[in-house]
Amino acid sequence: MKRLVALFRVGLVALGALVAIAFVVTLLRNRPLPPAPDHAFIKPSFEGLPAISACWIEFDHDTAPGQAATAGFTRLHTWELTASGLLIRHPKGSVLIDVGNSSHFQDEIADYPFLSHLHFEILTGGKSAAHRAPDVLRSSGIDPSTLSAVLPSHVHMDHAGGVMDLHDVPVLLSPEELDFAKKHRDTRTIQVVPEHAREIQTRAHLLDFQPKPYETFDESADLFGDGSVVVVKLPGHTPGSVGTFINLSPAQRIFHVGDAVNVSEAPKEPPYGDDGQLFAPGGYHRRQARSASLS
Ligand SMILES: [Zn+2]
Repeated sequence: MKRLVALFRVGLVALGALVAIAFVVTLLRNRPLPPAPDHAFIKPSFEGLPAISACWIEFDHDTAPGQAATAGFTRLHTWELTASGLLIRHPKGSVLIDVGNSSHFQDEIADYPFLSHLHFEILTGGKSAAHRAPDVLRSSGIDPSTLSAVLPSHVHMDHAGGVMDLHDVPVLLSPEELDFAKKHRDTRTIQVVPEHAREIQTRAHLLDFQPKPYETFDESADLFGDGSVVVVKLPGHTPGSVGTFINLSPAQRIFHVGDAVNVSEAPKEPPYGDDGQLFAPGGYHRRQARSASLS
């Protein structure tokens, strides 16, 4: 009996220590961010915008525990996840921003270490397979063969995995994100699925960033050279994440930010600590994203 009580005490102390460590880690991750450096605001020009359209396409949706969406403490019970893309139709070609996950995702992660596999299962709801991107496009009235390029905001599986089903389409990436994919190509972590990384690497076309300020961003890549679709660097969630401005008209503008913000409360409420992000230290670029998206 004494032995049992002693064991119970040890267990209790261990549990207390674990809770204390978790509390301290959460507090550290929730620390206030340094203020963002000042940036000039460069007003974009909207002269001579061509007629373009944007169509939101959902490849998949799911729910996950709310805590998985935030760096610090959360008030979210459930995190509503969407794997979706934005199809831009431009006179010079059609570009799909984000392509959902691969339909062979479960096979591609079959040999993952237990914890990484579990992390994926939580984030994907344990689904056996994602919808095939070409099928979703066709059901939205879009012929996948008409795509000029895909532009993943970053290489996480739910944004870039669909390249596995969209064969031969060029993949536009920032140089930093291509390096990130190469770095994690053989590590079997949640950062990039090795098979996705290898496929992306063979089809990657680097975005042509110029030292041309746009809004509050120091560099920009004007995709069609007419100011209608402008890509900016948005590191934080991953080192080479990008955001894309889509200017349908001077009054109708979209800023696609990928996972720079992944809960709708994050742009409005700072209590989520590191800006409501899953990974990502350093909130400076996300603050830029926030101010640009609200301007
Ligand atoms: Zn992500």
